[in-house]
Amino acid sequence: MAEEKKIPYKIYLEESEMPQKWYNVRADMKNKPAPLLNPGTHQPMTAEELGGVFCEDLVAQELDNENQYIDIPQEIRDFYKMYRPAPLVRAYCLEEKLQTPAKIYYKFEGNNTSGSHKLNSAIAQAYYAKKQGLKGVTTETGAGQWGTALSMACSYLDLDCKVFMVKVSYEQKPFRREVMRVYGASVTPSPSMETEIGKKINAEHPGTTGSLGCAISEAVEVAVKNPGYRYVLGSVLNQVLLHQSIIGLETKAALDKYDIKPDIIIGCAGGGSNLGGLIAPFMGEKLRGEADYRIIAVEPASCPSFTRGKYAYDFCDTGMVCPLAKMYTLGSDFIPSANHAGGLRYHGMSPVLSQLYDDGLMEAVSVEQTKVFEAAEQFARVEGILPAPESSHAIRVAIDEALKCKETGEEKTIVFGLTGTGYFDMVAYEKFHDGKMDDYIPTDEELAEYAAKLPKVD
Ligand SMILES: *Cc1c(COP(=O)(O)O)cnc(C)c1O
Repeated sequence: MAEEKKIPYKIYLEESEMPQKWYNVRADMKNKPAPLLNPGTHQPMTAEELGGVFCEDLVAQELDNENQYIDIPQEIRDFYKMYRPAPLVRAYCLEEKLQTPAKIYYKFEGNNTSGSHKLNSAIAQAYYAKKQGLKGVTTETGAGQWGTALSMACSYLDLDCKVFMVKVSYEQKPFRREVMRVYGASVTPSPSMETEIGKKINAEHPGTTGSLGCAISEAVEVAVKNPGYRYVLGSVLNQVLLHQSIIGLETKAALDKYDIKPDIIIGCAGGGSNLGGLIAPFMGEKLRGEADYRIIAVEPASCPSFTRGKYAYDFCDTGMVCPLAKMYTLGSDFIPSANHAGGLRYHGMSPVLSQLYDDGLMEAVSVEQTKVFEAAEQFARVEGILPAPESSHAIRVAIDEALKCKETGEEKTIVFGLTGTGYFDMVAYEKFHDGKMDDYIPTDEELAEYAAKLPKVD
């Protein structure tokens, strides 16, 4: 039995045990995620159309609903070795503090300068851009983790990197901006006056502090207008979930070493990439009828795409230049309350996860931000890691589930994704400490107004 083997605080894999292929959960889905649609014709985007925006190999991955496994090129595997395999940690200290019979594990993705899991996909996307002989890539970033990850990957491969950073973050998170500049990226606050769409948004909403949807539109415009550039995105897309499957594959390999079967798998959900990656191999087993797991997505109550959004085709960006994606969405104009400091602000959710959720294969809960920061501190004080606010959504629900076990006496095994560290989020922690954080939850009326503006697609 598993209990015979003492499980260490940290389960590390050997380098030689690192996955050599990404796992593509779409291959095992009976109901495939809906295709991206051309925003003009409402017909599925062809590879050729997508190739105007994205790199060739990434287009192939985006459209691949068939191949279960896709080789990770040697160059990417070598880069991964800089900061992977990532440890799977048994949270003995947290269990002790909570006095719970539950067994809690977390997969820690914060061991790199970007401080999050985003580097897993950034290096893959930069690699394929380089392979295609491109000059550079453009992207958006909110809080800055994705921009940092992409600038690290681009500097490693000598690619130019243009980042549009949501203005409010650009101003409030100058340190992350400077990290990007360490890696040679150019960082522009969005909406800017450098693009047509930026000028338009600034004219229509003077003084706007920007949104992810708006920064995406600017980054796409620059990619499309500059020869030798393509656009890359840090979440939501099928290809990003594919790259992030490295998280789940390593987690599963580590658990298998000790014959551990999780009961509950929990992850925070912004655009869905870390969660999609973490659950991928487990969801695969579930889809093939080989095992069953409770899978829980955790989102902020102030940006509740899964729990209160509509499953419909929507724009991925404010400027409506991107393809339409069928996803759980709050509407592409939705911007969470300015007081919301916990990240996970995107209006939509990965089409893969949206389909799995719609099929009842996973659950979702929303949590209020003060409760999230309480959990973050509780965790920081016993586990030696200062968590990112985003990651702390998963911590909140992991703690809640562990406390339920305390009441029932059940020894459940809980695994959650600790996606990153929060050292650049001290302004948010400060708000929390000073009691300046509130839990604004949008009303049904507000959400209905945004939902009414969803594009009509039949
Ligand atoms: C970006 C980010 C997230 C959310 O993005 P997903 O695509 O939903 O994974 C979560 N945690 C951290 C630390 C992040 O940087």
